[in-house]
Amino acid sequence: MTHKAKKRFGQNFLHDQGVISRIVHSIRPTAEDHLIEIGPGQGAITRELLKATGRLEAIELDRDLLRPLAQMCAELGSLQIYNADALKFDFCQLQTEERPAQLRLVGNLPYNISTPILFHLLEQSRCIKDMHFMLQKEVVERMAAGPGSKIYGRLSVMLQALCKVEPLFDIGPGAFTPAPKVDSAFVRLIPFSSPPLKIEDQALFSQIVTQAFGQRRKTLRNSLRELISDEIFAAAEIDPALRAERLSLAEFVKLSNLAWKTRQST
Ligand code: SAH
Repeated sequence: MTHKAKKRFGQNFLHDQGVISRIVHSIRPTAEDHLIEIGPGQGAITRELLKATGRLEAIELDRDLLRPLAQMCAELGSLQIYNADALKFDFCQLQTEERPAQLRLVGNLPYNISTPILFHLLEQSRCIKDMHFMLQKEVVERMAAGPGSKIYGRLSVMLQALCKVEPLFDIGPGAFTPAPKVDSAFVRLIPFSSPPLKIEDQALFSQIVTQAFGQRRKTLRNSLRELISDEIFAAAEIDPALRAERLSLAEFVKLSNLAWKTRQST
């Protein structure tokens, strides 16, 4: 194919067959699955998924890739391509009466927009069964990080509140053309059907986590001054002199639920 990879679309095409097989093997696609690929590109993963399921939907932003992709996959099954921006795409609309199964999302995502895509998908997690993504290794490490580490932050807490995060394996730059400057990792996310920690008000929780890590060098008392009073810290048995990175997910949930309760009663 003569397509020249476009940097602005984060195009790094997978060519390593061993890596492609490992990816497909981790996903274990079956004919019953409702599979959606984000950014199929030149079809490296697309073809294998189609062979396994016979049917696939894909969202690709780059118009130049649509026709070659459709041609290349024509023999393998039914591929429906949406020429759209995954950041704005309404994934839940794909769950229809005719295809009621929850979605299984797959993608070697453009690394420059990986965090906004993850947050966009979290908002739609009710219609998602699982997600398998190739991302920059450092992003996967942040997604899975726990309290006390420097890389633990908003992404870790928000994802882990709603999904099980399972890093699967690392991939070096040589598996892609052009080779990216960073290492990559493949990760599985499974949205909880009933979250182990119940969050009373998702918007308030998100606001607290964002604000706490937005000024991560400050104490919680200072960064959360407008949201959490000393009484709430005391009721939650959390020391307000700590910094955000010391707080577990459960403690963030506790703080936010107590703040919510206080608002309800005033
Ligand atoms: N899956 C292919 C391509 C990965 S490169 C492979 O593994 O080889 C990332 C792909 O995402 C490219 O095809 C790029 O055009 C596409 N892309 C970039 N930004 C996008 C967006 N906002 N929405 C949908 N697709 C996008």
